[in-house]
Amino acid sequence: MSNAEWVARSRARVWNPCTQMKDHEWLPLVPIKKAEGVWLEDFEGKRYLDAVSSWWTNVFGHRHPHIVSSLKQQLDEIDHIMLGGFTHQPAVELAERLCTIAPPGLTRCFYADNGSSAVEVALKMSFHYWRNVGKPAKQKFIALSNGYHGETLGALAVGDTGLYRETYAPLLIQPIIVPSPDCYERRPGESWEDHTRRQFEHMEAALKKHAHEVSAVILEPLVQCAGGMRMYHPVYLTMLREACDRHGVHLIADEIAVGFGRTGKLFACEWAKITPDFLCLSKGLTGGTLPLAVTLTREEIYTAFYDEYRSGKAFLHSHSYTGNPLACRAALATLDLFADPTVLARNRQLAQMMWAGTDELRRHPYVAEVRQQGMILAIEMVKNARKREPYPSEERRGMRVYQYGLEHGVLLRPLGNVVYFMPPYVIDPEEIGLMCRIATEGIMEATSD
Ligand SMILES: *Cc1c(COP(=O)(O)O)cnc(C)c1O
Repeated sequence: MSNAEWVARSRARVWNPCTQMKDHEWLPLVPIKKAEGVWLEDFEGKRYLDAVSSWWTNVFGHRHPHIVSSLKQQLDEIDHIMLGGFTHQPAVELAERLCTIAPPGLTRCFYADNGSSAVEVALKMSFHYWRNVGKPAKQKFIALSNGYHGETLGALAVGDTGLYRETYAPLLIQPIIVPSPDCYERRPGESWEDHTRRQFEHMEAALKKHAHEVSAVILEPLVQCAGGMRMYHPVYLTMLREACDRHGVHLIADEIAVGFGRTGKLFACEWAKITPDFLCLSKGLTGGTLPLAVTLTREEIYTAFYDEYRSGKAFLHSHSYTGNPLACRAALATLDLFADPTVLARNRQLAQMMWAGTDELRRHPYVAEVRQQGMILAIEMVKNARKREPYPSEERRGMRVYQYGLEHGVLLRPLGNVVYFMPPYVIDPEEIGLMCRIATEGIMEATSD
């Protein structure tokens, strides 16, 4: 079967995520037959470098041999069993290991099967905790502007993602939205840290005013990924941890995108040496092989639910595939790979190469900023770099970079006018060179008129 045949069959029956399907009248779907390392290959042998780790999941490249062999072995033992009333070796071992490597004080793991669900779990647990300890008035959530926490109604509600949220607004709980510390918005000459500290005043004010009715603050540590890879200084996390403690409000760290080495440390919270009350993980957790998510929390929170059945305090939440043994096994294999101390050191070198490879773009008249946090590098295309005047979104400049990339064998998937790299950690220097070159050419092309 050729590419064209698979595309036709797909278009006849598959409804793709996050897509205006009519776009595929002119924008070809890309049918993939095979994936290995950083490379995807279509049915006619054309290869694409996966510069976005397949929606940020694939941290060690596609079909990593250690993950593949672990999964094959696991398949010979258990496929799936429910985790209600039952338990199994992969779920136990994974929870033990996560509690060892996570910020200190997180001792309990609640599994789900996708990132949005892990966020739902954290929101419900936080709310329910306050109810269990006799503070039922704490029902609201504080979230940051431009944040993203997933697509299910609860997770969507605490996000601030324009169109994605607006359409469904009548269905959603209303969070208290606080201006983000996003350092793209800093004043000329202002340092990231100064800007971040200044923006914290909004958070302090919101906590002061609303703490009595707030369960938790939720945020993405250091990088607002879906919101265009906007970044801020870790001092925000330090200040937030202190303020949440002072005001009696939980802190939910959504590390679904930034966890597992993306920012240069295993977890982004480590940059501020803080422990959140809830840590949501997914995406890189299984190395991008199988869906799995987990919400970690502290012993004291677990204990508030632990009581006689008739107390009605139990956390009655589940998903059919919660703690799937195969997915847990893939996660254990991924953690085996992180046990190698050279992984994060190598990432630092790769990150420097990505920085060096985008040098030309830092002087480009239609690039307002090139920013980076570890293995995330983002390039902000604008109509006028000096004035930071954005391109109208309907011009879809990012889409042109996407098309240019595909034509030239690199999968770049810009977020609006932000082109970014978030490659698997097994990318080599030559591949980084290719990725940077094609992105630079694509940006030249997309900003040429
Ligand atoms: C992707 C993402 C989610 C949602 O995860 P899904 O598995 O897509 O439901 C939540 N939060 C953040 C920060 C994400 O990047």
